[in-house]
Amino acid sequence: MEQKGGGGGEEEEERRRRRSGVVRHSYSYIHQQGIENNVSAVRAIPGTFQDNHCRRCLSEIETLGHVLGACPYGETLHIHRHHAIRTKLADALRKLKYTVYEEVHGTAENGSNRRIDIIGISESLSQGMIIDPTISFETYKGQSEDLHEEKRAIYVPTIPYYKDKYQLHDISVTGLMFGTRGTIPNFSSQFRKALGLHKSFLNELALLIIREPVKRLRNHLYGL
Ligand SMILES: [Zn+2]
Repeated sequence: MEQKGGGGGEEEEERRRRRSGVVRHSYSYIHQQGIENNVSAVRAIPGTFQDNHCRRCLSEIETLGHVLGACPYGETLHIHRHHAIRTKLADALRKLKYTVYEEVHGTAENGSNRRIDIIGISESLSQGMIIDPTISFETYKGQSEDLHEEKRAIYVPTIPYYKDKYQLHDISVTGLMFGTRGTIPNFSSQFRKALGLHKSFLNELALLIIREPVKRLRNHLYGL
């Protein structure tokens, strides 16, 4: 499926989500903990700690990005969230009558093994779509489009394998980014619309996503 990136609407969508009662509570917590404005009590904040290396893994500077994205200390929560997002996406596709397989091992054209997160198959059209949801710390505009291209580079070489495995005419690859702090890039909104998924789907997903950094930051700072 071809995606169009960029364009407006993203901020409006974001404002609407903030206003909706469903996520307001989690947003206020995120704000309170300084996650939103990147002022949490992590050690990279100048003048707060003598040693600004990560208090858990000791290997990197303890930035919020490190705590929420890279620190091995929070990995279990991270993996759990990734599975939750994948399952939610897969279930939504099943409701739309796609046949869905999760975590399928395949082979790329060069013989290397690559596991895909989700493949949704429209039996009537004999078409498949490989979807790779990724939750990333938002750092720049256009990040979701770059991520999509990265994922295409990884998974397009597996298309012949999956075409053969599931007897399909055509397979698309989509890398879907969701922001660590609950933002849904425009690119992902477009994908949601193209599939015909209900708007509330992204709200639910955002809620699922923003609960994790709250847990992860608490766990990191206070070792809960
Ligand atoms: Zn660390």
